Amino acid sequence: MSVETPRLARPDLRNFTPYGSAFRQAAWTDGISLDANENPYGPLIDGEVFKELNRYPEPQPLALIQRMAALYGVGPENILVSRGADEAIDLLTRGFCEPGKDAVITFPPTFGFYETAARLHGVNVIAVNLERRFQFNLAHALSAIKAPGSVKLIYICTPMNPTGGVIERNEILDLCEAASNSLVVVDEAYHEFSDQRSLARDAADRENLVVLRTLSKAYGLAGARCGAAIAEKATINFLRRLIAPYPLPSPTIYAALSILSPSRLPIIEKRIETIKTERARILDCLRRVPEVSEVFPSQANFIYFEARDIERFAQRLRARGVRLRFRPDASPNGVRFSIGTREENDLALAALGADLTPEKRRLGEFVRDTNETRIAVSIDLDDAGDIRVDTGIAFYDHMLEQAAKHGGFSLRLACEGDLEVDPHHTIEDCALAFGSALRIALGDLRGVARFGFALPMDEAGAQILIDFSGRPLSVFSGEFAATHIGAYPTEMTDHVFRSFADSLRATIHLSVSGVNDHHKTEACFKAFGRALRQAIARKGDELPSTKGVLA
Ligand code: PMP
Repeated sequence: MSVETPRLARPDLRNFTPYGSAFRQAAWTDGISLDANENPYGPLIDGEVFKELNRYPEPQPLALIQRMAALYGVGPENILVSRGADEAIDLLTRGFCEPGKDAVITFPPTFGFYETAARLHGVNVIAVNLERRFQFNLAHALSAIKAPGSVKLIYICTPMNPTGGVIERNEILDLCEAASNSLVVVDEAYHEFSDQRSLARDAADRENLVVLRTLSKAYGLAGARCGAAIAEKATINFLRRLIAPYPLPSPTIYAALSILSPSRLPIIEKRIETIKTERARILDCLRRVPEVSEVFPSQANFIYFEARDIERFAQRLRARGVRLRFRPDASPNGVRFSIGTREENDLALAALGADLTPEKRRLGEFVRDTNETRIAVSIDLDDAGDIRVDTGIAFYDHMLEQAAKHGGFSLRLACEGDLEVDPHHTIEDCALAFGSALRIALGDLRGVARFGFALPMDEAGAQILIDFSGRPLSVFSGEFAATHIGAYPTEMTDHVFRSFADSLRATIHLSVSGVNDHHKTEACFKAFGRALRQAIARKGDELPSTKGVLA
């Protein structure tokens, strides 16, 4: 077999023959499979994700590679999908370093697995400590590559774990130029939380640059184990020959494809923003805690700080059942605080003695996947303004945006629906998902009341009465002359409010009159938003029911 092999590959692996059947890629699922000693019967486990578990998965799943390639802005030939970035680190060590001879460079304090993987394979580790305040020093890195023996891998972690700072891209590119006989491995595991430009595209056409990415952090899939190495084609082909057979289990492939689908990405972005907002808040809080001696700026989803009395901190955290990571290897009193939900962060901050007034954020996230639609919604009742709706039906987007705008809450909703069949499924399912997310955000309904709103829109008028009664019922009165407004069928308005009522478990009475169908429909959604605005405003802590329960 003549396969292009990267110049820096371990010499004895240059003509390495990969394990046969796992390397086979084309037409993976075509035809009748009687060639892999699989069991013909499906697994006795409920759920779509387990459907094909009796079959071996695609070794390098094409659909996932294509999605990751689009996400990272490179070609599919530049991506190796791996069982977490961890597996890529292990493979790079084995594929490029000769045991007992070669070395890797790390810049401690840093992610521990670079060293573990090297030691496991009998490869030397040259540790070049970061400077005071964890600054990267390019001159130190350049002198380390001149060390005797052959430095094969140079690990640059940016944003740095555990300290959260970043290493400038120009310095990394300078290092690549200077270290032409080493692979510079840039670990961008936390990149999505930073404001840096990724080096992924640079890696696609530089011989000695590899970028690592993962779905464990920003995409919340740590349990699925899915990451990627991004590099020039020859390096990727070489790594594909070395990787274990079928590295990604089918449920992982399913989970990764789901999380990277268009309906999920707006919610992922929103979560990243929320984590960054929390990061700024925690940073500010920690800086005001007298017992914290130093807090380091972070571009990751964690914050590194140093305490005056680490034992005391540890005791207080233990007493409240909060786990932070102590990093004495980085600095004697060093602590890494991974950013959680607002409530979790408040618990940790309170344990650390921070002065804060805890405030419960009312967030509702909901996903709904069927054979007809895939929908993700996120609603934040305490944050007006951020509204992005993409159902594929422009007029309906406009209507849901009106409900959120007049409701005074943020809304992200995206749907991949079977519009080629009809708008019906998309409209109904989006209403159900919207109502469900809203219901989750409303929580136990303490402080809400029962509401109504009447609203004119030019010649049209809509009146709505809403009761979060726990007894879903929708009463609609109104007629539309046109069958459609754009791609939106007017008969769906009645249906949408029924879906809202069902998923919100509310009683909704809506009546609309007027001449222009666009105005009438818009008046319905605006009135709905205005009634919700009143409903979601916090008014004390009382449950508006003599029964003591609204459910
Ligand atoms: N790189 C860094 C810097 C990390 O902190 C981690 C995990 N903590 C990884 C890579 C491994 O990521 P994965 O879960 O994709 O194996």
